[in-house]
This record gives sequence, C-alpha cells and structure tokens, in this order.
Amino acid sequence: MKSNLDSVIAQACNKHKNDPGRVIDILWEIQKSLGCINEDAMEKIAATINTSRVHIEGIVSFYSFFSETPKGKIIIRLCGDIVDRHAGIDKIAAVFSEELGIGIGQTSPDRKFSLEYTACIGMSDQAPAALVNEVALTSLTPDSARDIARRLKSSSDPSKLVTVRGDGNNGNHLVNAMVKNNIRMKGEVILADGIQAESGLKKALSKTPLEVIQEIAESGLRGRGGAGFPTGEKWKLAQKAEANRRFVICNADEGEPGTFKDRVLLTERANLIFEGMTIAAYAVGSDSGILYLRAEYAYLLPYLESVMEERRKSGLLGTAICGKKGFDFDIRIQLGAGAYICGEESALISSCEGLRGEPKNRPPFPVEKGYLAKPTIVNNVETFCCAARILDRGSAWFAGIGTKASHGTKLLSISGDCAKPGVYEIPYGVEIAALLEMAGAEDPVIVQVGGASGEMIGRGFFNRKICFSDLPTGGAITIFNSRRNVLAIVDYYLEFFADESCGYCTPCRVGTVFLRERIQKVMHGFAESADLDYLKDLGKTIMMTSRCGLGSSAPKCVLNSMAQFPLVYSSHLKESADGLQPGFNIQKALEESRRIAKRKSMIYDPVFGNENER
Ligand code: SF4
Repeated sequence: MKSNLDSVIAQACNKHKNDPGRVIDILWEIQKSLGCINEDAMEKIAATINTSRVHIEGIVSFYSFFSETPKGKIIIRLCGDIVDRHAGIDKIAAVFSEELGIGIGQTSPDRKFSLEYTACIGMSDQAPAALVNEVALTSLTPDSARDIARRLKSSSDPSKLVTVRGDGNNGNHLVNAMVKNNIRMKGEVILADGIQAESGLKKALSKTPLEVIQEIAESGLRGRGGAGFPTGEKWKLAQKAEANRRFVICNADEGEPGTFKDRVLLTERANLIFEGMTIAAYAVGSDSGILYLRAEYAYLLPYLESVMEERRKSGLLGTAICGKKGFDFDIRIQLGAGAYICGEESALISSCEGLRGEPKNRPPFPVEKGYLAKPTIVNNVETFCCAARILDRGSAWFAGIGTKASHGTKLLSISGDCAKPGVYEIPYGVEIAALLEMAGAEDPVIVQVGGASGEMIGRGFFNRKICFSDLPTGGAITIFNSRRNVLAIVDYYLEFFADESCGYCTPCRVGTVFLRERIQKVMHGFAESADLDYLKDLGKTIMMTSRCGLGSSAPKCVLNSMAQFPLVYSSHLKESADGLQPGFNIQKALEESRRIAKRKSMIYDPVFGNENER
C-alpha cells in the first residue's frame, strides 16, 4: 500500500513537472487513484513539489471534490439544487440509499460506493440529475435510479450507464453523454445555423490588434457572465499594461444554480469559444490561454482536448497561427474541483495558479496583474463566442441587435416550473412575461433571474426586461409556481451561500449562517417583527462589508423576497397571548396614517391637543 502511495504520487507529480502551480491537476490524479488525499499523501506531495503540507491541506479542504478520507470507487453525487429538490431528488436519494445500503454522506464498507449531495451540476433543465463519477445522469426517476444502482453493483463501470446518447455532440464518442442540449430558441449571434468557421479569426488577423479591440469596443459587447464590464475596455487595459507576457482565460465555471447554457456552448460551440480566445490573444498580445472547466463538466474534457488538438493540426493554435508570423498562442484546460467561488474572476485565477480559490484583493485588477501577476483578461464562454461573431459580421451588425444600451443577444438557461426548460438565445430587451410564455410556464409566481446571486421577481413585475439597465443576468432563469414556498427557496439559497463562502471574511462566513437561522425562525412561525428588522439590517451589513461578489449577493434573496412578498413574512410572525405582535412599534406603524390624515393620534401622541400649552 505504501509503495503504491509513493508511486502514485511520484507519477502524478512527475506528469506535471513537480510544478506547485499545477497542484490541482496533481491532486486530481491522486484522488482518482487512491480515493482520497490523506495526511500521508499530503506530506509526500508537499515534499515532492517543494511546498508545505499545510498548503496542500488548505487546498484539499477547500475543494469539495477532494477528500481527506477514503471515498468509494464510484461516487454518486446527487444534484441538490432547488429545481432538483422540487423534481424529487429526495426520492432518488432514498432509492440509492436503500439499494446500496448507505446513507447520504456515507461510503460503503467495501469502499465501492459513496453517496452524497452536491451543488447544482448544470442539468436543471433535466432534473433530477446526478453525477456518477464523471458520468451525468439526467431526468432520473425512482425506477431508473433503482436500475442504475443495480447495474453499478454488477458492472462497476459508470460509462456503461449511458445506453442512449443525447443530441448533437453529446452523441460524440468522446462525450458519450445522455445529456440533451435542449436548445429551444436560436438567436442570430451564437446558436445561429451556418456560422462560417474561423471567419472571425481570419478577419481579425487581417487587422491590427488595436483595430480588433476597436471593433469589439464599437460593438458595445459587455461581459456575459453577469457583471457586464465592457469587453473592448477590458482588452484595451490588458493590451496597454506593461508586461513581457499576457494571458487569456475563459471562465467555463458556470456554478450559479440554475445555469447550464455554457454546458451547451462547450458541447456545440467549442470551436467558436477557442476562436474567440485566439482573437483575444491576438488583440492583447498573449501567447497562452487557459479554459477553466468546472469539475461537473469533466465529461466534456476529452472532447474539448480533441477539438484543441484538431485546431493545432489545422494551424489554428500553436505557432504562426493561420500563417501569421509571430502570432503564437496555445490553450490548456484547467479542471476545477468543485467550488462555486471559482466563478469569480480573481478566485478563478487563484485556482489556475494552484491555490485555494479565494478572491484576491483589488486593485490591482487582473488586467494589470492577474495570472502569475501578468496582465490577464478573463471572459466568459459566451463573451468569447460573441467576440468571434463580431469580428466575422462587424460591430454595426452586433450593435443593431438588442436594445439601444444592451447590444446583441443573451443566452438564457430556463428551468423550474415550466413545460419547455432549456437554452434560449434572445435579443436583449425581452420581458420576463414573454420568456414565461415561451417556456410554457404555468401559474408562475416567482422568477429568480440570475440564479442564487440574482434578483427575485414577483408576479407584479413580470414586465421587467432582460437588459443591462433593468435585469442584467449571467443567464439563469428559474421559475417557481404558486405551489412553492418562497421562504423555503430563500432558505435553500442561503444554505448554498453558507456552504460556498470561502470563509475569508467574517460578514460573509458568519452572516450567511445567521441570516439562515433567522429565516428558519420565520418559516417555523417563531419570529417577531424585530426579526424582520434584524434580517434587513444584517443583510445590508453583509452586502456592504463583504470582500467579493458572493457576500454582497448572498443577502439579496432575503431582501428581495421581503420587498416582493411582505405578506408571506408578516403572516408567519407569531402573535403573543394578548394578540399583539411582540416588538410591534406602534409609533412607526402610525407614521403612515399621520401622514395621510395630516394629524396626530389622540391616544398615542400624548401631547396631542396640548401643544399650545407647552
Ligand atoms: S465575501 Fe465570502 S466568498 Fe467573498 S471573500 Fe469574503 S468570505 Fe470569501
């Protein structure tokens, strides 16, 4: 056993040239071979790559797909997202538990199986879903789960579970997934048919780098990840920054609950993504790129590697790209290891550097000092696809789609209580009501725009629009009908944030837990009106004092839902024996009637009528 440990570690470290910057890749190899990264292993890895055991331990404990204790050869990760919960993932869990004889969070004594819940795996359009090692299983039922468990017990090979492959490239032997693309609406920009391969890249190479940046700037392209920073501006800053090297990173870590449109782009538009990255590299003067792929999409890794290999053979990656002397650029894929915070650009950079995926202090911004302290542009999958199309069709074409201030199209992942969940490419400016109709939503009451960190919209606001000036979004649209409990939804989102907080700052780490405790108090009917004030105050404090977007977004579900559904909250408050609300502030409550009546209360304003005597 000891010699096996030694040889596995030596092999893994050697494969990655003992580079501490590639420690996540090293840990992946070891986790897969040994089922865990225990203390002994950490000690040896640290010695081999010349770092400390504490450093390795910090990384292992940070990423949810790594474990210090032995896991089963087959790990069944059930998607615990809210959509999957509503679709009955608990029943699927019960079947696996019964068939495998283990509870959630347990590993079988023979170390064959582990069973656990995980955060959203990007399959909300085909919930309930699960990952069995790297194989994605979708649209599960208790019967199919029983069949899967029994087949696993006899064959131990998760890849054999895929008996029917999904559409498009899901059917490619390197993908081999039962996943469906569920493309419901194709727009003009990214999902359009008949896109001319590499046309954008070839046109870009006929221009100067500054002209390429100018084209992107004039198109009005803004980052599709949610923050909406102007892409041309970002590229210009990186290009101008003094440095001997620059990097291009594609953020393919869509961890926002309810988002899955990047999954479809990675499956169906891989070449367009790499084309966009190559154009960006030419524009900013970069020779190296990284595609950061979330661990949940590891099933796409062999296919993406093969697409890159083809591009190298065709002269689209490597040296003198498309015959352009002096333009050398290549890309590597960095597999994540299960951490939502790595979707934040500076945390993603930390992860690419082989560190805990913790956000960095800003400034300096990544465009000045990013990956390995060099100027780095981080753009999302969809943004790179748009960039390639802009160079092909021109900035005026792109700017002519959408609204005056929000140009182009937006890919949305629509899921939840609707008949047609899937990916929709819409021009900016479409109303929520129109989306609900397209998706066949019945009796929608709540729409969560932008996932857990987004905005909760009640029925009275379905005329709001998807655009940067109204509802900017990374792309998740989750629909809830009148049978859903808004407090349970808020509770789920807080649980998610508390789990995913990187723990660096106290307001986020502790505040999300306190918010959740108080929401549960409301849910169970033990709260008083003072608890609602507490929720508001704490929520605002967390938003103001957190270091990164996770903390400043986490309380939004509480504050939004309190504003949109005040009656739900007030109806859950407990009454005291005399029927009065404890903590009820009569003066505050009277303020409104004083204002309307333009006079004070005889009973509650003691000096009423005596003002002249004072
Ligand atoms: S806000 Fe939360 S996730 Fe962001 S740095 Fe602080 S603790 Fe980490």
